[in-house]
Amino acid sequence: MIRIENLKKKFKKLQALDDINAFFNQGQVISLIGPNGSGKTTLIKCILGMVRADSGSIHVNGKQINGDPSYRSQIGYMPQIGRYPDNMKVGQLFRMLKNIRKMPETELDTDLLVKFNLVSIFDKPMRTLSGGTRQKVSAALAFYFNPAILILDEPTAGLDPLSSEILKEKIMQEKQKNKLILITSHILSDLDELTTDVMYLQEGKMIFYKELSVLKKETNEEKLGKAIASIMKGGKREALWIDEVLALKETVKTN
Ligand code: ADP
Ligand code: MG
Repeated sequence: MIRIENLKKKFKKLQALDDINAFFNQGQVISLIGPNGSGKTTLIKCILGMVRADSGSIHVNGKQINGDPSYRSQIGYMPQIGRYPDNMKVGQLFRMLKNIRKMPETELDTDLLVKFNLVSIFDKPMRTLSGGTRQKVSAALAFYFNPAILILDEPTAGLDPLSSEILKEKIMQEKQKNKLILITSHILSDLDELTTDVMYLQEGKMIFYKELSVLKKETNEEKLGKAIASIMKGGKREALWIDEVLALKETVKTN
């Protein structure tokens, strides 16, 4: 469904994405993880055509994305920070997008609208909403048009525990419909049940991209968080070990 080849992006001197290659297919829930500033949001924005890569290519359903934004209608996107016109009312926002899409009312997915009780705040202007409520609006919009691909950037950040559970439940249901879901989160326990594959980014580089089951086997860990911690510790050990070898060589040389 999504093919990424040799993708590179620099912001001035900063290499935000450094030669990313990956293929994402339907039925996969890919957890995109990595420290702050590792390039997760930039990768997502490249897929959505919101950031232009310096080189490389992205294909969505076989078509290279360049210029023509029509492929976007297949993707439901929940941004890390949702930006909306300040004075637009919540109800207006949903009505406006519905009119643009021209999707029949019966095909709309109003599940989250109902569960988050957003109809009760339909006449509130976007600017008056708390961060969490804004997140609920973003979530409801991402699923509204029943897209085959979902891209969720820190979806549970800022949500209260109950709303977070509602959203996770919803993501699980969409996974069962064989959709492609790309998700980032710092709360690794949120991803445990959902994830089929893990992509780990660090300083714009893809450190690994593998099935969660393989990752668990390799690390002998049952939880995603523990598995990642184990790999990262292993990496540090290796780096330390290389430093030790180099130091040893130096001593041998000087003696
Ligand atoms: P993540 O989502 O993994 O936290 P981002 O993709 O948001 O990371 O950012 C990756 C790096 O690129 C960071 O160092 C960030 O400061 C930088 N960056 C992101 N967007 C821009 C931009 N529009 N202009 C300049 N630098 C940016
Ligand atoms: Mg981010």
